[in-house]
Amino acid sequence: MDDYRNTVCDPIGRGAKRAVVVGAGIAGLAAAVRMHRAGWEVVVLERAATRRSSGYLLNLHGPGYDAAERLGLVPALTPRDIGFFTSVLVHADGREKFTVPAAVAQAAVGERALSLFRGDLESVLYDAVAGHVDIRFGTTVRAVTQDPGAVEVVLSDGTRLRADLVIGADGVHSRIRELVFGPESEYLVELNHMVGAFPLDTVPEHVAEGVGTTFLGPRRTAAVMNLGPHRSSAFFTYRSPDPAAELARGAAPALTAAFGDLGRGVAEALRQLAADPTDAYFDSVGQIVIDRWSSGRVVLLGDAAWCVTVFAGYGAALALDGADRLGTALTAHGDDLTAALDSWEQSLRPEVRKRQALARKGIGRFAPPTRVHVWAGDLMLRAIQLPGIRGLVQRSIRRANN
Ligand SMILES: Cc1cc2nc3c(=O)[nH]c(=O)nc-3n(C[C@H](O)[C@H](O)[C@H](O)COP(=O)(O)OP(=O)(O)OC[C@H]3O[C@@H](n4cnc5c(N)ncnc54)[C@H](O)[C@@H]3O)c2cc1C
Repeated sequence: MDDYRNTVCDPIGRGAKRAVVVGAGIAGLAAAVRMHRAGWEVVVLERAATRRSSGYLLNLHGPGYDAAERLGLVPALTPRDIGFFTSVLVHADGREKFTVPAAVAQAAVGERALSLFRGDLESVLYDAVAGHVDIRFGTTVRAVTQDPGAVEVVLSDGTRLRADLVIGADGVHSRIRELVFGPESEYLVELNHMVGAFPLDTVPEHVAEGVGTTFLGPRRTAAVMNLGPHRSSAFFTYRSPDPAAELARGAAPALTAAFGDLGRGVAEALRQLAADPTDAYFDSVGQIVIDRWSSGRVVLLGDAAWCVTVFAGYGAALALDGADRLGTALTAHGDDLTAALDSWEQSLRPEVRKRQALARKGIGRFAPPTRVHVWAGDLMLRAIQLPGIRGLVQRSIRRANN
């Protein structure tokens, strides 16, 4: 029997309500920021022993930027903004096809946009709560039980914590979801693609500074960004009929098998990955589809609840927005937790549904299925540089963002 049954339970403090947040990623830290601001006592549990590295590049615009603003993050995020960069589309051997200037991407998304490393966004969130909330690294959850008055979690170190609310923000492979809602297989919808992304320790020699080179399919995409020291990174995605087999191979062997024939920056990035795969993100692409995001005093947030995937380019935005709206709903409904969680879920569902649908539709842009699709994609990228067409594309991107 688990020895936690004999340990002392840390009770809920008098006065402030207590939230236990599981996961110190974007969703968990944003929840900590928002719940602390709403006057809750917050404990954050993070499985990793330390904070994560820079990770990969992500964009915040539209509602994602708005949520960052509401959370008070924009002043600290702005100095970390990478900005837009020139994209060079290349052939498999690295020869240039054509260039898409930074100004084209900038015009498409507008002024209210940030391009950030995931680690920079997490750092800004962490700095906003460090010293105000209890953050425990190297700690996870073994069990969750509820009674009408509270929820109790048993931690990996045997400690028990009672709380008013548990927020499961522990990512797409959420342990909280598994403990409270059931096995991942019931909720994960595989999109049969793999994604790999990692920071580059040394600047890629074969890619000019301030430039990202992109090789586009069929069935795969590779991009290498040279944005200077400590800011360069690589991104890969490819179609796979058997994601489990790819995961079993591991990031470096799998990505080398899928992209090892490509030249220039890609070969360099793969060499760096093989030398040190520690900071690489490598996973299959799958959406989480679940009928309800809360059960009693346990609520899921971020990828744990609704992973929209990299193909939506919107998961970080929804994590921030979801955390901010959760704080607002809990404040508005006072002691009526069920009403708060209901209204929170109703306010977010339509956006999540839309982003999941857009992601499924957008797969072909990331990994065009055939040469004809590659050719059509190239044509569109060339066309958006024409002023008339650019206006049309701008309007459709802004419509999707609103
Ligand atoms: C390559 C790539 C590019 C992307 N680009 C964009 C973009 O441009 N714009 C955008 O908005 N989104 C983007 N996204 C999506 C976005 O990064 C994610 O949706 C977001 O990071 C999800 O955050 P999260 O906190 O929900 O989950 P995660 O980032 O997975 O964080 C979960 C945290 O929980 C911890 N954890 C896991 N299990 C446990 C446990 N049992 N106990 C305790 N802790 C645990 C983990 O260590 C981690 O710290 C991209 C994603 C990828 C992969």
